[in-house]
Amino acid sequence: MTASRTPYIPGRTGRPELLLILGSCLTVIAILSIVTFLLIREHANAQQAATRSATTIAQLIDADVLRTVELYDLTLQGLIAASQRDDLKQMPPQVRHLVLFDRSSTARFKGDILLLDKHGEVLADSSLIEPKPGNFADRDYFVAHVSNRDSGMFISRPFKPRCDCEDKDQWRISFSRRIASPTGEFLGVAVASMRLAYFDELFNSLDIGDDSTLNIINNDGILLAQKPYLQSDSIGKSFASRPNVVRILREGSGSFSSVSSIDHQKRLYTFSRVGNLPLTVIVALSSDEVFATWERTAVVISGATGVLCIGLLWLAWLLSRELRLRHNAERDLAQLAATDALTGMANRRTLDQVLRHEWFRAQRSALPLSVLMIDADHFKAFNDRHGHQGGDDALRSLAKVISANVRRPSDLVARYGGEEFSVILPETDSAGAQQIAEAIRVAVEQLPLVAGAESPMTVSIGISTWTSASEISLEQLLFAADKALYQAKEGGRNRVVAG
Ligand code: GH3
Ligand code: MG
Ligand code: MG
Repeated sequence: MTASRTPYIPGRTGRPELLLILGSCLTVIAILSIVTFLLIREHANAQQAATRSATTIAQLIDADVLRTVELYDLTLQGLIAASQRDDLKQMPPQVRHLVLFDRSSTARFKGDILLLDKHGEVLADSSLIEPKPGNFADRDYFVAHVSNRDSGMFISRPFKPRCDCEDKDQWRISFSRRIASPTGEFLGVAVASMRLAYFDELFNSLDIGDDSTLNIINNDGILLAQKPYLQSDSIGKSFASRPNVVRILREGSGSFSSVSSIDHQKRLYTFSRVGNLPLTVIVALSSDEVFATWERTAVVISGATGVLCIGLLWLAWLLSRELRLRHNAERDLAQLAATDALTGMANRRTLDQVLRHEWFRAQRSALPLSVLMIDADHFKAFNDRHGHQGGDDALRSLAKVISANVRRPSDLVARYGGEEFSVILPETDSAGAQQIAEAIRVAVEQLPLVAGAESPMTVSIGISTWTSASEISLEQLLFAADKALYQAKEGGRNRVVAG
């Protein structure tokens, strides 16, 4: 059995619950995007602020180191100028010592200041009026000055003193200058050493946090000072092969984030050259410390945003479920309002709507429109014999038989009222409608006999058809179908009459 089309149900066709879910998802995506953007920006701000404070620390160290080195240089230049005075040799040793080293007292963390001849032998020593014999020709600074006329002030690698003095375990570096004759001939070297404890004291005056480090390296990547020490024996060691140091020496000054190859901590490296000296200050701030506040904020904001988004989605889901239930209830109600409760066919209201709709469609398309009016014969008598319940059952089977013979999706079977049914057949001419009507009549006649009945149930059918040639109204079309039905009844029932 093929049902004709389902009754026309007026109402909404959109899916507001889908729109709601989609809208909420878009809102959640927008919220997440905004929060992510803000967190990324805050992260960049935290990094910028840290870089600024690291740069300030590096500048403080720069200024102090420059001043200190300048003092050493003045000392050396004073020593060289005094050593080249011809009258110096005639003076008593005490006076000579005083003249040579008169500017040396101001420098901090000063070690020995020596005057060496061109063979590296000690000519004068700031700590002894009569210098102890010694040869320093093998020192890196001496070798550098012998071979290089224009080396200016030379800063040596870190070393430990050869003396048997009490601070012999303390690292030092030396500042030295070449002594040359007016013709440029090498005459010797003036050298002043400084204890690296100077840097420790300088670093201790700066507070940078527990996991952050302050470092000074020379141009060969050798570590001169560090606070706090990452390794106990790292002073004097070369780190020139470490990727971070390679980058720092190449770029001179700047800032970048990287992982330390020593303790594998992530740090923000800010570094700068100390004036024109072969020294670089590195301020390495611990990323954990730099981003600690940001991380706390990020956790709180992410958590709150997550809860908000989940709450929003949950609410949207609840609301959409309610909407879906309401939508289904409305659809069921509309279905109920559109169908006949006894037979499940379209009711009179739906019939009127569909008929009007098809009528206008036929006018536009100029295709024929047929209407069948079907009426059960002698149904009052049937009812009287089989009772109301039997009558209802018969009406149900009648509806089924009519539906089974109406096959196109645009066709509609409706209960017109009582024991009368209507069939709308769009795009069907009179001949086609007669064929269907006849098929219905025969099928009803062939229904099995109801227990106790003497003759089969029959129907009379009146047909009217609108064609583009006919000039009738919708009311006239229905009236014609009624009239044809009347004629079928008049003609003896169980027959089809086309109006
Ligand atoms: P005719 O061949 O001239 O159509 O005779 P008829 O008896 O069918 O005509 P009439 O219009 O006089 O009677 C219709 C009867 O249909 C009246 C009522 O008993 C019966 N009927 C109408 N609606 C229902 C219904 O919903 N259920 C049942 N069981 N009977 C109905
Ligand atoms: Mg009737
Ligand atoms: Mg009847």
